[in-house]
Amino acid sequence: MISQAVREALQRFVPADSILYKESLKKHTTFRVGGEADCLIQIGDINRLPKLLGYITQVGIPFFVMGNGSNLLVSDKGYRGIVLQISDKLNEIKAEGCRIRVQAGAFLSKVAKTACDLGLTGLEFAAGIPGTVGGGVVMNAGAYDGEMQQVVEEVTVLGKEGMPLTLDNRTMEFGYRTSAIKKHPFIVTECVFLLKQGDKEAIAAKMADFQNRRKEKQPLEYPSAGSTFKRPEGHFAGKLIMEAGLSGYRIGGAQVSPKHCGFIINTGDATAADIRQLITHVQEEVYRQSGVRLEPEVLFLGDF
Ligand SMILES: Cc1cc2nc3c(=O)[nH]c(=O)nc-3n(C[C@H](O)[C@H](O)[C@H](O)COP(=O)(O)OP(=O)(O)OC[C@H]3O[C@@H](n4cnc5c(N)ncnc54)[C@H](O)[C@@H]3O)c2cc1C
Repeated sequence: MISQAVREALQRFVPADSILYKESLKKHTTFRVGGEADCLIQIGDINRLPKLLGYITQVGIPFFVMGNGSNLLVSDKGYRGIVLQISDKLNEIKAEGCRIRVQAGAFLSKVAKTACDLGLTGLEFAAGIPGTVGGGVVMNAGAYDGEMQQVVEEVTVLGKEGMPLTLDNRTMEFGYRTSAIKKHPFIVTECVFLLKQGDKEAIAAKMADFQNRRKEKQPLEYPSAGSTFKRPEGHFAGKLIMEAGLSGYRIGGAQVSPKHCGFIINTGDATAADIRQLITHVQEEVYRQSGVRLEPEVLFLGDF
């Protein structure tokens, strides 16, 4: 619950029409499940963020930073606190030679397309990842032959008290689907990509090839959060799940995709609880049959 006093104060920091109360997070996640957030603020001006953050921290309201919600499973009970959404309202992209400076809310697909138009190579892998630059940096998103670690030169973040800080590639401590920001309460506001000159047509052809492979192999016609599990060392999650006989297995409206067993999909009326239970069932069954422990790549928000 957000008190009237807090509601009035929030309007001093951000425009009233960017503050949404009791907002269903179903609308903001690619799984299309999840309950309400007490409050969701769509950040449209980075300069307003430090004071807003300072206030939220001072009054002690929990907050969560969301990009496009494409790697999140939000509880059916929603989120008690404020969701700060850094998405398409913060999407400036500026090219400077082989560097592209981008605000955190820009979609990776749009940045990859810009790089292609400029004849810059390195971001082809990101064209089909349905997240923001901020989410991609935090997750060290990657596909096919690339990941963010290879192309990020520096990242600008805000600390909890709203202090800006620039982190270089090494300080970001990128690892497999992780970065330093998963361990620290930083908010990514901007990122500089360092790319290489390339051939525009070859870049476009590579991006189209990756997109076609996705369409062919992934259940993009259903809501999901992409690969549900991380790739266990020496194995493929999808293969282990298929070999465990779980292709098409359902709990409520959640299903192990028969097209790609590494994806749990929402067939239409899934709840977050269905998906959570199915994740646990898959983990238990794969472990029982193969001895391999699957770790979710999807992040959980709220109480399950
Ligand atoms: C169909 C489909 C295909 C996918 N394919 C891939 C793939 O090939 N490779 C891959 O790596 N992923 C893939 N994903 C998963 C997802 O798109 C990526 O993890 C993406 O990087 C998440 O970005 P997001 O903006 O949606 O972040 P969110 O899901 O909103 O958030 C993810 C994490 O980042 C944090 N975060 C987001 N923005 C910020 C910010 N500005 N500052 C601080 N923290 C922030 C959140 O707090 C959360 O911890 C896929 C998802 C789908 C639905």
